[in-house]
Amino acid sequence: MKIIVASFQCESNSKAKIYPKKEDFEYFKGEDIFQKLAVKDIFESNGFEVIPSIYAVALPSATVKKETYDFYADQILQTVKENSDAKGVFIFFHGSMEVEEIGSGELYLLKQMRKFLSKDCLIALSLDAHANITDELTSYADIISGFKTVPHTDQVECQKRSAKALCYCLKNKIKPYAYMQRVPFLLKNDTLQTAYEPLKSLIEETIALESQDDVFTANLFLGHCWIDAPNTSASTLVCATTKQRAESIAKDLADKLWQTRNSYKFLCEAELPAECVKRALEGSENRIFITDSGDNTTAGAEGDTLDILKLLIEAKPNKKTCVAGITNAEIVEKFWNKKDGEKVFCDLLGEWAIVKSHGEILGWTKEIIGRSLTLSIANVDAVFTELRSAFIEKGNFDKANVDLLSYQIVVVKLGYLFTELKPYADRELFALSDGASCVELKRLNLKNILRPMFPLDDFQWKA
Ligand SMILES: [Zn+2]
Repeated sequence: MKIIVASFQCESNSKAKIYPKKEDFEYFKGEDIFQKLAVKDIFESNGFEVIPSIYAVALPSATVKKETYDFYADQILQTVKENSDAKGVFIFFHGSMEVEEIGSGELYLLKQMRKFLSKDCLIALSLDAHANITDELTSYADIISGFKTVPHTDQVECQKRSAKALCYCLKNKIKPYAYMQRVPFLLKNDTLQTAYEPLKSLIEETIALESQDDVFTANLFLGHCWIDAPNTSASTLVCATTKQRAESIAKDLADKLWQTRNSYKFLCEAELPAECVKRALEGSENRIFITDSGDNTTAGAEGDTLDILKLLIEAKPNKKTCVAGITNAEIVEKFWNKKDGEKVFCDLLGEWAIVKSHGEILGWTKEIIGRSLTLSIANVDAVFTELRSAFIEKGNFDKANVDLLSYQIVVVKLGYLFTELKPYADRELFALSDGASCVELKRLNLKNILRPMFPLDDFQWKA
C-alpha cells in the first residue's frame, strides 16, 4: 500500500509586504525530502511503500501569490494524480498559509487532492501550533496533529505522532473522526508559551488523552493573529475513533482553554517603544536588549521601520548602541563604495553619519544571503541589510562586522530574544511597536475575523 509524503509551508502575515518568491522556499523533491522529514522509517517499518513528493518551506512572509503557490501545489497534485491508488497521504503543513484569491492554501490543496484519491484514502497532517484551522479542514483530513511546544521544539515528534496514527488506522481499517472546536480568542502570540502555566497543564492533558486507545491526537491550536481571515482564532482539534468521543473531548478542551484567556502575560518588561528606550538609557545593566516586536522579521514583517532607531538618535545616548538589522537595499547600495570611516549624509535619517563597516547577511540556514552596511550616528550604530534579515545570534553581528560585545544597548527586530542571544542580554525589553507583526490586536484592525472575539469583545462563551 502506498503512502504519499509531502511538505508545503509558509506562515502568512496579511500586513506584511514582502511576498515569498519561488526561490524563497527551501525546496527538495523525491527522496531528498527525507533530509527534512522524519516519517519515512515509520511508514516503511509498517510495510508501506513511500511515495515522496516535494518539500517546500519558506519563512513567514506576506500572503502567497497564486502563481508561487501553484508552482509547488501543482507538483504535489501531480504526485497524487500519478499515485491515485495511494491509501494514505502525509503532509507537513504550517496551517496558516494564506494565498491570494483562494484563502487557506492548505484547505485548497486538500480539496484538489481529494478529487483524485479513493474514498478510503486517509490523509494525515502535521501542523504548527499557530495554525488557523478552517471550518472545513476536518472534512478533508482524517488525522491532524499539532506541535505541543511554543517556542517549537517538537516538530519531529509531531510528524511521528501523525504518521504512526496513519499507519495504525490503515492497518486496522479504522476511519478516524476529526472534530474541530473553534475557540473565539486571539491572544498575543508572545504571551502563549507552553513551558508555563496555564498552557503547561493543558498540554499535559492532551498527552494523557492521546495515551487512551480510542484517541489518536488531541490538539490545542493557539491561532496566529497576523492573518485577516475568518479562520483566524484559537481552536481545539481531536481525532478519535468516533465522532462522539472526538467532539466531547474537543469541546471540553475548548472550554478549559477559554477559561485561561485572562492568564497570559509577557515574560519580560513589555512597553511602548519610547518607554523601552527610556528604560534602556537609564538602566544600569551591562547590556540591555530591546526587541522591536511590531517589525519582527521572524513573524513575516519587513524589518524596515526606523521608529526606535530615530528615538535613539534623538536621545543622543552616552552608551554604545546598535540597531540591527534594518532592511534597506537603497542605503546599502548608495554607500557601498564608501570606505569605512568616511562621512556621508543619510537622507533617510536626515543625519550625517560615518560608514562604520561593510559586512554580510547570515541567512537562516547559515549561508550568506547578501550585503550589510553599518552607519554610525554618534554613539548609535545602525546595521542596514539589503535583504530582510533576522539577528538571532551573535554570528549575525559577526558577519555584519559589528562587535556585539561592545554595545550596552542592542535593538533587534524580534519578538522575544532567541535563546542564542539570551546569554548576551542582562535585561530584555519587549517593545510594543507598530508594524506588520504588532502584538496589540486592537491596533491590527482586522476586518475579516469572526466576532465576537476576545479580547476585542468581552463576552461569555461555552463550547
Ligand atoms: Zn508557530
